[in-house]
Amino acid sequence: MKRHFDDVLLGSIELFCLAAEAGSFTAAALAAGVTPASVSRSISRLEKRLGVRLFVRSTRSIRLTEGGKTYFEQCRQALNLLVEAERKVTGEQVQPAGTLRISTPTTYGHHRLLPLLPARPAGRTTRMYAEAPVSPRLRIHLAAAAEAEGIAIARGGTYVCMEGPQFSTKAESNLYRSWGADVIGMTNLQEAKLAREAEICYGTLAMVTDYDCWHPGHDSVTTEQIVAVLNQNSAAALKVLDGAVAAMPAKRNCPCQSALKNAILTQPSMVSDKTKQRLHLLLEKYFRD
Ligand SMILES: [Zn+2]
Repeated sequence: MKRHFDDVLLGSIELFCLAAEAGSFTAAALAAGVTPASVSRSISRLEKRLGVRLFVRSTRSIRLTEGGKTYFEQCRQALNLLVEAERKVTGEQVQPAGTLRISTPTTYGHHRLLPLLPARPAGRTTRMYAEAPVSPRLRIHLAAAAEAEGIAIARGGTYVCMEGPQFSTKAESNLYRSWGADVIGMTNLQEAKLAREAEICYGTLAMVTDYDCWHPGHDSVTTEQIVAVLNQNSAAALKVLDGAVAAMPAKRNCPCQSALKNAILTQPSMVSDKTKQRLHLLLEKYFRD
């Protein structure tokens, strides 16, 4: 058997069929996960090979030519046969299989994703992270304690969590600044997410030691200078902690204490005993009802 098609050409035929079905290069591109320009290029390549125009293009729409219609009918049948062949050898498995993990803001998950789920999967819990994993109450106590000690602070900010231990390159440092990030470190994101999952109040007291490496006037700090600043910072941090812990109420009323309340998709009655045991420490109170 002689070879007629290469991979690129078969892909182009599939994109052509998608565009013909959708009546739009943009819709075909969306369905295929490629750019509209690449759909357009693929179809031009096909037209060149065939020596036939497949679409009449205008700025607003595309329309199949007579030749295009004939080609589409035949190609669609051929592609359907290929899909059918694939199904036959993969055991007729036409449904997608496996675990789907979705990480999404809570509100979006509840209002948009939950209604789309056909059924609650049994014996499996799904957790969602809130947008800002910081306790609103804890930040207030930390800031107040710092101010009481006369320590200059900036409230809020965006923390870049880089993989460590290492230092940024100047290019990385400038990139983070262009994103609007305020501080950089290597540990807070993991802590924040674990604390949120355990419904522990979390706050960051970010004590700055240096300008990363972007500042032209501060690019040559010595180890001694860094260590001196570190020592000042840890003394200040202890004072802030003393004040914040003393001022904290014994009973909290912030939303951290029920962060997982709406994060479990599975009905408690459907969760297996084994899963309940495994998650007992974190989810016991939610499994009770
Ligand atoms: Zn809290």
